[in-house]
Amino acid sequence: MRVLVTGGAGFIGSHLCDRFLAAGHRVVAMDNLITGTQDNIAHLAGERNFEFIYHDVSNFIHVPGPVDAVLHFASPASPMDYLKYPIQTLKVGALGTHNALGFARAKGARFLLASTSEVYGDPLERPQTESYAGNVDPVGPRGVYDEAKRYAEALVMAYHRQHGMETRIVRIFNTYGPRMRLDDGRVVPNFIGQAIRGEALTVYGDGSQTRCFQYIDDLIAGLVKLLASDFVEPVNIGTTREITIYDFALTVNAVAHNPAGIVFADGSRIEGDPQTRKPDTSRARKVLDWQPQVELETGLARTIAYFRALVAETA
Ligand code: UDP
Repeated sequence: MRVLVTGGAGFIGSHLCDRFLAAGHRVVAMDNLITGTQDNIAHLAGERNFEFIYHDVSNFIHVPGPVDAVLHFASPASPMDYLKYPIQTLKVGALGTHNALGFARAKGARFLLASTSEVYGDPLERPQTESYAGNVDPVGPRGVYDEAKRYAEALVMAYHRQHGMETRIVRIFNTYGPRMRLDDGRVVPNFIGQAIRGEALTVYGDGSQTRCFQYIDDLIAGLVKLLASDFVEPVNIGTTREITIYDFALTVNAVAHNPAGIVFADGSRIEGDPQTRKPDTSRARKVLDWQPQVELETGLARTIAYFRALVAETA
């Protein structure tokens, strides 16, 4: 196959490039580098089967030659990033998805949309099944991301229904691992950066809000299975091990051997910060025969080792 990965220089996109190259496929990565970085794909520079195209997919997409699959992963994804780039976030979800779908259709390619647990907003149901329609405030600060992805899902389904296109939608829950940006503002890089520097971890609010953290390799395995499947409806991919942000901070400190403890940063929670988030993954288990393999402590240890090496290298 020859695959196009939009957002190919991002955290998840670059891991996807690695996976498809390792399986012997040809990969075109496309990115405008506003939140992605070429550091994430620097190791692929000499690869015969790899190309990088610097391009903003909110503008018309052109790639010469055949393409068999389009994996649409371009978008700011951390709350801090989409608050900084609200219009770009809406544009890439709307115009970018439209262009990527039109491109895939012209090439006769299969299409996979990276959607998100944020389509459930601040959920009133727990765990979140794919049939739950969510609780999103369109005019809240997080609405730019949530509504962009909700629109993108609607557009994908319209292309499937109207044009009979082969489409897939993954709703990705909190994912962490090497190649996150240490300064992207999300809880995992924040806590790990603080732990490495021997600082106290900043727990926003009282830390009672929950998340489920999956390791990148588990997500990538699920994405590969979903693309290969014939399942058109959205599929949640995430772990079901739910943890409060307070307990997560304790876990990061334990794995990183950071004695500095925790500080409560009361005013730092963004309006609409979901109080709970936990996927129901029965669909992924049933239709993809997928379930996560990497324990939180194991994944954290690997991620901390990566960031320690990165910080040492930069210093
Ligand atoms: N959070 C925190 N300290 C930080 C950064 C984030 O307590 O330094 C909290 C944040 O308020 C949220 C949770 O961690 O409740 C997860 O936030 P993140 O930005 O990683 O992504 P989200 O899951 O909200 O999209």
